[in-house]
This record gives sequence, structure tokens and C-alpha cells, in this order.
Amino acid sequence: MDDCIFCKIVKGEIPSFKVYEDEKVFAFEDINPISPGHTLIIPKRHAQDLWEISGDDLTAIHLASKKIIKAIQDALQPSGVACVQLNGPGANQVVLHYHLHLVPRLAGDPELPVATWELKEGDMEAVRETADKIAAAIK
Ligand SMILES: [Zn+2]
Repeated sequence: MDDCIFCKIVKGEIPSFKVYEDEKVFAFEDINPISPGHTLIIPKRHAQDLWEISGDDLTAIHLASKKIIKAIQDALQPSGVACVQLNGPGANQVVLHYHLHLVPRLAGDPELPVATWELKEGDMEAVRETADKIAAAIK
């Protein structure tokens, strides 16, 4: 999709803090992180949501999530990691290209928002450093 911001990230037309890439998926840091290490995993092939994504791409996303969540655990030692995935504007999906959020949780963090949170731009240097830490921890 020509006007899709996530397709542009996959093509490298928009810079991102990449943590992982394989044949089917691309993973990068959310620049409006709910918490440090907030990572998005997306299929390289455009699909809007869970209704549209192919089984192959969905499988690849979830296999990648297993690798990345291990790296987040090793790099950041969170108390937990939430997987959040929204489908459709009615569920507050903001970018209409399937994405799975991995949101590290730390003890004492405020309650995890389920579908609505303030988009607060992160400190880009900190986001880049966290991306590098997670990427380095991927086995
Ligand atoms: Zn797209």
C-alpha cells in the first residue's frame, strides 16, 4: 500500500529502530512507547488486520514474537510482557497495517491500557539504545 506508513518502514522509506527482520516480518521500536522496549511486529506484506492477514504471515509474526520476547527478557528484565493487538478503528487501531505490540511491564508500572493510550513521543536516543539492546539479545 503506497500510503501506508508501516509499508514505508518495511521498505526503508521511513527510518525506524529495527530490532528484528526475517523473510516475512519486520520488528521495530514504537516511537511513542508505553514503556521502554515497546516493540511492534508487523508482516512485510500489507494486511490491515487479523481478518485480512494470511495464516503464514500470522504464524511468522507469532514465531518472531517468541524470539523477541526472549530478547526483551534478557535485555531488559521486565516483570512481564503484554501482547496487545487491535483490529479496526472501532478498537482504536491507529495504523491500518496489522501489528502486534509487545509491551514490557515493570513492577510498579501504572495499569496497562488495553486499547487506548496517549501517544507520547519517546526520547529517541533512549529508544535507539533500547532497540540495539533487544536486537543484540536476539538469538
Ligand atoms: Zn502497510
